[in-house]
Formats: sequence, structure tokens, C-alpha cells
Amino acid sequence: RIGGEGLRNTEALAALQKYFGYESFRTGQADVIDGVMDGRDVLAVMPTGAGKSICYQVPAVLLHGVTIVISPLISLMKDQVDSANDNGIPAAFVNTTQAPDEQAMVFAQAEAGDVKLLYVAPERLETPRFRQFVAAADIALVAVDEAHCVSQWGQDFRSSYLGIGDFLRSLPDRPPVAALTATATEKVRADIVGLLGLDDLSVTVTGFDRPNLYFDVQRLARKDKTDWIVDYVASHPDESGIVYCATRKEVEQLADDLSALVPARLGRCPDDDHPVALGYHGGMAADTREHAQRMFVNDDVPVIVATNAFGMGIDKSNVRFVIHNNMPESVEAYYQEAGRAGRDGEPSRCTLLWNDGDINTRRRLMDMDHDNERLSAEEQDIVHVAKRHLLDGIVGYCRTTECLHRYMTRYFGETVSPALAGNGADPAGEATGDGKATGANGGPRCAGGCVNCDSEFETEDISAIARAISMCVHDVHQNVGTGKIVNIVRGSKSADILAMGAERMMSYGKLAAVPQDKVRDVVNQMVADGFLRIADGKYSVVLFGPRAAETVDPSFHYEMKKIVRPSRRPAGGV
Ligand code: ADP
Repeated sequence: RIGGEGLRNTEALAALQKYFGYESFRTGQADVIDGVMDGRDVLAVMPTGAGKSICYQVPAVLLHGVTIVISPLISLMKDQVDSANDNGIPAAFVNTTQAPDEQAMVFAQAEAGDVKLLYVAPERLETPRFRQFVAAADIALVAVDEAHCVSQWGQDFRSSYLGIGDFLRSLPDRPPVAALTATATEKVRADIVGLLGLDDLSVTVTGFDRPNLYFDVQRLARKDKTDWIVDYVASHPDESGIVYCATRKEVEQLADDLSALVPARLGRCPDDDHPVALGYHGGMAADTREHAQRMFVNDDVPVIVATNAFGMGIDKSNVRFVIHNNMPESVEAYYQEAGRAGRDGEPSRCTLLWNDGDINTRRRLMDMDHDNERLSAEEQDIVHVAKRHLLDGIVGYCRTTECLHRYMTRYFGETVSPALAGNGADPAGEATGDGKATGANGGPRCAGGCVNCDSEFETEDISAIARAISMCVHDVHQNVGTGKIVNIVRGSKSADILAMGAERMMSYGKLAAVPQDKVRDVVNQMVADGFLRIADGKYSVVLFGPRAAETVDPSFHYEMKKIVRPSRRPAGGV
């Protein structure tokens, strides 16, 4: 080990400059490297592109022995190994794409100490040859890339990751472990620590805020979305942007609409060679797709309309806006996709268009997704619950009255910098009931700007409605779906409701004066906020959520966002 802090920092910086040619560490990197060099386990939660690889590659060159990198994507290993070798760090991988004698050669080199970085997939850890290698080699560090894959609460759970904990525990003189991920909420983080058995832990969470991004959320009926997007694109004619849609059909329709309607709006003729928008999705022929991507990257077409198949590995720095035509499946997915805006650091805008129908569509897609052959029935159930939970997170983002930058960074567990504290530091919960413009709009604007800090909206006190709904869920013993609950609290006289003995229930007719849509809306918000939850399975029974008890507290106060500014305000500037 290298002694003395000053010396160590100098060494790490020298290694960064020598091997990677970078002047200085980015935020978080030095912290993580310090932890590793101190012999501690580290958990690094940093967004994609923040530079996580450096966090184990620099220690790998400084420490004696070989660093094992566990990575889920065989397809990316070759690139990583090539680029490490290009940088003068001896690196290799063993995986199923190699012939047995090739694998044997890599192991021999690694045992001889000729490899500093050895990339393997988690499945490899259990093989006898790997065990033999581990017993013979001097292992400096184990890096677990994409560490969130160990958790069933994340998006990308892989059962093979569950073997990593056993592997680490089996090492007689266990070296430090560096777990790295871009997505780790509280639950995922707890799983990483618990399942990998991390100890003497140093946690670094960093860099999730993107202060040059303006976050906008618009609740729009389905029929109004296209108009909104056409308006936006027409009022930003020279800007490059991505519009994400949920389905291939929507992609094609919207690309056609934009190419026809935007020129019309601007009083120009449509130009088939340089349309306003091109579509991009997995169902298109490869050359059509590549053509669209090239046109977009070269600024020959300003807008690309795409499914989430678009964006992986695309490095276009001047994307000025990203619009989501539908609700994404999680805050993680949204952060990733919206984050493709403003890579050059210039002000850019991320807009999420949503409505309640989107939530139902997402739930349906999830139910259809339930048949995953690789997982046991029990695992499928767990993953399903986890996905519901992720959806609640993004619904919460759409509905919150809090600063959207703050919501996002808090979601990722980052502490909020003072520059960001904006209005969000002053919770909207201080509002005083109906009709008063309160919440985010009173306070100073947050660093990057967001619709909640900027715009006028009122909050409405929905405590009584929420309390009645909660009472009804109790009355029906958590046994019916939203439709019946709405009917009971509104005092419906329909036969099926009366047959349930609803008239004898405390909650019956309590909300007779509240419109049906409003009651539904409150149920949805209560689900997003954890007061209620929707059971898995096709009947979507409404159950109590973890915060249910709060609704019976006499001090219970609950609000809903009511936007005052026109929802189709032409989106000027950023
Ligand atoms: P992540 O794994 O977090 O997505 P990578 O490790 O792939 O990110 O790094 C993203 C990019 O940033 C790479 O091109 C990498 O070389 C570059 N990079 C990493 N650290 C630094 C640094 N300290 N200075 C400049 N560029 C860096």
C-alpha cells in the first residue's frame, strides 16, 4: 500500500494523467479512489457518463495484484478491455465468446501477474477454473459494475448477481470491494450493501443534478399532446431535440405529423429531403434507422422521434430539448433519457407530458410483462412489485409541487446543494388550503429552473377526500378496485354496490358532491404517495400503503396541485 495521504493523492492524480491523459478528477472520483486505497469497501452512485470506470481503474494500476471487474454485459467487455490496453493498462476478459484455450491463456497470464484488470461476467465466478485462479492469484480489488443488478428493487435485476456475495465471502483474505452503479434508490442501496456483504463502507453519491436542464411537467389530455409538441418544435425551429414515445406506431405517426404540421405553422413548404422529424425504433430496417440517426447527429434533421431504443451510445452534445410524449417506467429511465439533453452544458429543456391514462397503460404493460421465463414465479412477483414501486416514483415526479431538481436529486439519494435549495426547501405542505397561490412558486428559482419553481399554481386541500377514500378501503376490507371505491364514496345506488351492503358503511356517500374524476385522481395521487397501493394481478384491488395510518391522524393534511397557468402556453425560451 502507498503510505501517506499527500503521497497517495499525488500518486492517484499522476496515474490519472499518465494513463488516461486527464488533468484532474471529476466530482466523486477522488473520494471513491481514496476509500479503495484505504482498504475500505466503497459504494459509488454516480450517473452514467460521470466516470465510474476510473474509480477502479486508477486503484488497479496503483495496487499490487489483479483487479477483478464483474460486469453484466459481455458485449461491452471487449471495448472496455481494448480501451484499457490502449491506455497502457494490461487488461483482459474471460467470457463465453472465447474458445477454451483462449480462456486458459488469459488465466495463465493473470496468474503470472501480467494482467491488472480482469473482466468477468458473474456466472464465471462459480466455475472451477475461476476458483482455481482465485486461489492462486493476488487479488487487489473486486469491482462490481452495475451493482444495482443484485437488487430486485431495481430495473435490471439479474439472478446471477446473487452469486457475487457468496463469491466474496468465500475469499480467504477478502480484498476491498468497489460497487458501482448509476441507479440506486434507498432500497437498492440497502440490497447492494446487504447482498454483497459490504463492510467498513464508504459511500459516494454524486453528480445527479444537471443545473443546465430546465425540468417541465405538463399534464395534457391525449388529444392535446401532438398539438403541444408541434407548437414547441415550431417555436424552436433551429433546435435539435428528441421526442420519446412509448410505441412504434406513435413514433411513426408523430414524426409524420411534425414533418407536415411544423412547416405549415411556420408558413413554409415541407421539405422531404430535410424533414422536420424522422422516426427511430427497433422495428425499422437497420439501414433506415442508421440513416435517421446519422441525419440527426449531423444536424441534417432537427428532431428525432423515437422509442427508448434510441440513445444508447449516442453522443450528441447539442440536444436542446427532450420531450416525453408518455410517462416513462421510472425516474431512473426518465433521468437517463431526459439527460441526453444539454450534454454541452448549455441551457436545455426536458418536458414530460402525461395523463392518468399513461399510468394505466404502464400498469397494463407491466402485467403483460409478468411472464418472464428466466425467473421463478416468486422472483417474478417480487420484480413486479418492484416495478410498481418504480412507477410510483415517476408518478410522484409528475404530481409533486416540489422543485423538480430537488425531487430528482433526492430520489437518487444525493444531498441537495445550497444552490439548489430554491423553493423546495420550503415545503409546499405549508400551504393554507384552497385558492391561495402557494407552493413552489413563491420562493427563489432553483438552479436549473423547473416548472414548479417558475409557474403559478394553486394547491387544493384534499385531506377530507383522502380520508374518506381511506375509510372506504377499510370498510371494504381492502378487497375491491378503484371503480367500486369511487362508487361507494359517491353513494351510488347501483345494484352491485347495494349488494355489498354499502349503505351500512361509514364511508358510503361521504363524497357525494365530489366529481367521479376527482375521486379517481385523488386515489391515484394517494397511490403515488404511498397512502394506498394497487395489488398485483388483474383485479387491481386497492390496498393500504405504508403511509396509510397517517390519514387517520387528526393533523393529516394533504394537497393536490392545481395549475393556474394555461397548460398550452407556447414554450418560449428554455
Ligand atoms: P460511467 O461508467 O460512469 O458511465 P465512464 O467511466 O464510461 O462513465 O466515463 C465516461 C467518460 O468520461 C469516458 O469517456 C471517460 O474517459 C471520461 N472521464 C472519466 N473521468 C474523467 C476525468 N477525470 N476527466 C475527464 N474525462 C473523464
